[in-house]
Amino acid sequence: MKALVKERAGPGFALKDVPEPRIRDDEVLIRVRRAGVCGTDVHIYEWDDWAKGRVKPPITVGHEFAGDVAEVGKLVTDVRVGDRVTAEGHIVDGRCLLCRTGNAHVCPYTKIIGVDRDGCFAEYIAMPATNVWHLDDDISFDVGGIHDPMGNAFHTALTADIPGSTVLITGCGPIGIFAVGICRAAGASRIIASDVNERRLELAKAMGAHDIVRPQEAEAVVRRHTAGLGVDVALEMSGVPAAIHQALALVRVGGRVQMLGIPAKPMELNLATEVIFKGITIYGVVGRRMYDTWHQMTRFLRSGKFDPTPVITHRFPLAEADAAIAAIKSGEAGKVIFEIA
Ligand code: NAD
Ligand code: ZN
Repeated sequence: MKALVKERAGPGFALKDVPEPRIRDDEVLIRVRRAGVCGTDVHIYEWDDWAKGRVKPPITVGHEFAGDVAEVGKLVTDVRVGDRVTAEGHIVDGRCLLCRTGNAHVCPYTKIIGVDRDGCFAEYIAMPATNVWHLDDDISFDVGGIHDPMGNAFHTALTADIPGSTVLITGCGPIGIFAVGICRAAGASRIIASDVNERRLELAKAMGAHDIVRPQEAEAVVRRHTAGLGVDVALEMSGVPAAIHQALALVRVGGRVQMLGIPAKPMELNLATEVIFKGITIYGVVGRRMYDTWHQMTRFLRSGKFDPTPVITHRFPLAEADAAIAAIKSGEAGKVIFEIA
């Protein structure tokens, strides 16, 4: 089969002919139809310090996908050939303290497809049946293929108290733009979305932001809509230190900051003034809660109040991986996907 492979230490991906994966008795083989490209893939493509420390080539890359089931292992009972599915890409041990206390999303033994084992930028992928998530008949493979980053946004937003709240979203990358639509559907009273990029602010507007602002305008708009207090909830979705400081500054006393964005290196905070004396709660987001977040996603999609399709702006075949990565790096894209079959 064709697969996009990180062949060796160094920049780039190669489109290769590789053997189809063989499944274990508790796994299923999925024919990949759509796959989302994300910032993590860019790190692996560019072979930055994080990638050098984590990824062991050769490996097939990619972790966001949807497709249909081509084969099931002997022990699999609830997935059948032909089922339309996506999957949780974090494979956990299921046995540790975290897994057995409802916190598998922070399992220390997590293996991520496309990072720690072969991924989905390929015609087929093998997945443990426990990770498979069925798609409703009316959910397209396009939408199925972006459940992973959408799930990051659902996890970030819905572990805060959104109904009736005023919300600041710093960073309108794909995940921030999803979060705008989720907060809108969840009944936020005011959604203020901030970014430095005009194209992304337009997408945030299309997904239902009440106000779109450049960072330097955020404070005035937040004060105007919160009687000067600051927002109830800030969703930090950029990972940029200036935006992290701004989220902490513009949340109200006693408010909540949901931290999804990952700063490239350690950064300084004034804990006393930015966190402690404001009495705020900070929540670190890792992936998607298993499987609360997945149920929430499916139900929001079923409600018809949340439609992520406007976020998908670019499509490429696997053979155009360089162009797909360039589209992400350009900042002009919402979600970039591969059309595989
Ligand atoms: P992204 O990294 O492209 O989005 C970041 C956005 O922030 C960009 O649109 C950028 O223009 C904007 N930005 C830059 N400076 C800003 C500022 N000062 N104020 C406001 N916005 C600013 O794309 P993404 O895929 O949506 O990822 C968002 C973040 O989430 C990244 O840091 C990514 O590494 C992280 N992430 C975390 C998890 C997790 O589990 N915690 C999972 C996936 C991604
Ligand atoms: Zn575990």
